[in-house]
Amino acid sequence: MMDRTEERTAQLAERLQSVRSRIQQAVSQAGRPDSPQLVVVSKFHPAADVRRLASLGVRDFGENRDPEARHKAAELEDLDVDWHFVGQLQSNKAKHVVRYASAVHSVDRVSLVEALSTAKQREQARRLESGEQPLRPPRPLRCLIQVDLDPRPVEDRPPGIGARGGAPPAAVEELAERIDRADGLRLQGVMAVAPLGLDPAGTFRRLRELSTSMTSLYPEATWISAGMSHDLEQAVLEGATHLRIGTDVLGPRPEVG
Ligand SMILES: *Cc1c(COP(=O)(O)O)cnc(C)c1O
Repeated sequence: MMDRTEERTAQLAERLQSVRSRIQQAVSQAGRPDSPQLVVVSKFHPAADVRRLASLGVRDFGENRDPEARHKAAELEDLDVDWHFVGQLQSNKAKHVVRYASAVHSVDRVSLVEALSTAKQREQARRLESGEQPLRPPRPLRCLIQVDLDPRPVEDRPPGIGARGGAPPAAVEELAERIDRADGLRLQGVMAVAPLGLDPAGTFRRLRELSTSMTSLYPEATWISAGMSHDLEQAVLEGATHLRIGTDVLGPRPEVG
């Protein structure tokens, strides 16, 4: 008989396998030579599940809140994994996030660029001084610009969606320039969440266009973070390099906040 924890590991293995084969299928359908990176979004799920997934070969995890992310990362310090911060981020949390995150997918304003840059530099100085030489997170901090691609005016959007964050497309150019110039940060690409109630394919196509103009100026900013559990296929077809999958790997989250 399996005990509860083995049962959960077996369940996660099965769900992970099913998500991986969906990705593989979409990759073949798209005729892509490459395969996007899977980032498992572990928010609301316990550190024990992250440990199980790490034992199944997952190396990239996403979180959308500090301090939940901070506590999980501390508890799992012994694991060889990368933490991706994917949620809206208050500038005053930057000093915590730079300690564990290797990437922030949700940079959407100049003040946050400045806060992350300052925090990353201070953290590097602190580590140098204390003689700490951790392998992770790597420096510089990878930064993706989250773009709000919902064409509807805020008042016409379904309730709750205004709070999803993201910079207007017109602001992307300046943000890219700021990140590119900021010490401690690396401009890594673009990210979007498909707006509720609209066809995700259109959003992902626009995101890809933004990515194309960005890489013409910054050839290394190649990441396109798009696609969640329900729209990963469209994201793969439109060239996503990173998929942020929570529910279809870990199961439903409690409906809080
Ligand atoms: C929660 C979350 C995800 C994962 O969503 P699922 O639908 O559970 O796969 C992806 N991206 C962001 C920004 C999130 O907050």
